[in-house]
Amino acid sequence: MKRFSKSFTKQEPIPDEGIDRAVELMRSGALHRYSAADGQWSETALLEAEFAQYLGQRFVLACTSGGYALHVAMRSAGLKHGDKVLCNAYTLAPVPGAIHNAGGIPLLVDTKADFTIDLEDLERKAADASVKFLVLSHMRGHIADMDRVLAICRTHAICLIEDAAHTMGAGWRGRKSGTFGDIGCFSTQTYKHLNSGEGGFITADNQEIIARAIVYSGSYMLFHRHLAAPDTRVFDDIRFDTPNYSGRMDNLRAAVLRPQLMRLDENRARWNRRYAAIEQGLSQVDGLVIAPRPREEQFVGSSIQFRLPRFDEARMRAFIELNAAAGVAVKWFGDAEPKGYTSRFDSWRYLHDQPALPRTREILATACDIRIPLTFDLDDCRLIADIVKENVTELAA
Ligand SMILES: *Cc1c(COP(=O)(O)O)cnc(C)c1O
Repeated sequence: MKRFSKSFTKQEPIPDEGIDRAVELMRSGALHRYSAADGQWSETALLEAEFAQYLGQRFVLACTSGGYALHVAMRSAGLKHGDKVLCNAYTLAPVPGAIHNAGGIPLLVDTKADFTIDLEDLERKAADASVKFLVLSHMRGHIADMDRVLAICRTHAICLIEDAAHTMGAGWRGRKSGTFGDIGCFSTQTYKHLNSGEGGFITADNQEIIARAIVYSGSYMLFHRHLAAPDTRVFDDIRFDTPNYSGRMDNLRAAVLRPQLMRLDENRARWNRRYAAIEQGLSQVDGLVIAPRPREEQFVGSSIQFRLPRFDEARMRAFIELNAAAGVAVKWFGDAEPKGYTSRFDSWRYLHDQPALPRTREILATACDIRIPLTFDLDDCRLIADIVKENVTELAA
């Protein structure tokens, strides 16, 4: 039996310039984003400007986490207590959590076999006149047909908040993921495409929305020390009307992120070579269906998803165990028991009166996911595919 021995959660080191800059900042003590001397831009302000430029957007705010970004995005878009918010049933726990935190009521939308949101179910639910928000997760990097998503949002006057936690660096028909929505949110938590331990970004093109987000994030009326921010006049009323929900990013994390951002496109290519090696190895396995990648999508292959539609629950469990025994961490989204990063929507019991969504349940019942850290080389990826293939074949017999 083949065995794999590397860790699926080991990251690459922070680039040396990031470490050097972080050490320099620690020696200076100037870790707070507003501690820069007059006339100087802080590391955080510079990071925001660089990310705005990368996205081709005017405004960016860095903050403490992706979940915080989502929460403040909804508030900044005008969500009121009790407002309904559409979101993917297949998403990560911080998404319904952020909606709950903002005072909204999550309304889960069905999932298609390619792991994207079901646009028919979305259209049906968006037609309810009391629904004004959609938080769209590009879950595990799969981007729904954005032309149709935008059309649905336009028709039903839905405010679109994009959760691009898994699509930083990705795009749809040449436009960067996170720039389609009224607001885009990102995470720089260790297991995303940039790593600062914790962290997040909000981007928007509307100056009132981003001004509110800046004041919510705890700007202490120092919004003139932001680079990727609107004119200070935009804050005239907003500074009085918006509470401070402290959630700033600090200079240390910004210092660690800046050189990583410069490498994001290069890393996308490195991820995609690894993805292609695993995809290739799994492409001829009977009974294994790899999630399709539409032509319009420029994805970042930092993980790979597939389904085993012929497997029942007992075989799924056996499959996960066989891989684990061979050192391959396959995550299963069908487990009723929330484990690690995977929790199925029906385990979020604080969401009351949710639809049963049998289609999402059916898809997740055989949905598997493998992380692809950049610390793996192409031979590692081929070995992982061999092991998975062997285990599918063994259990299918
Ligand atoms: C990680 C993640 C978030 C939230 O990010 P944190 O920085 O961990 O709060 C939101 N949505 C998805 C899909 C994620 O994977």
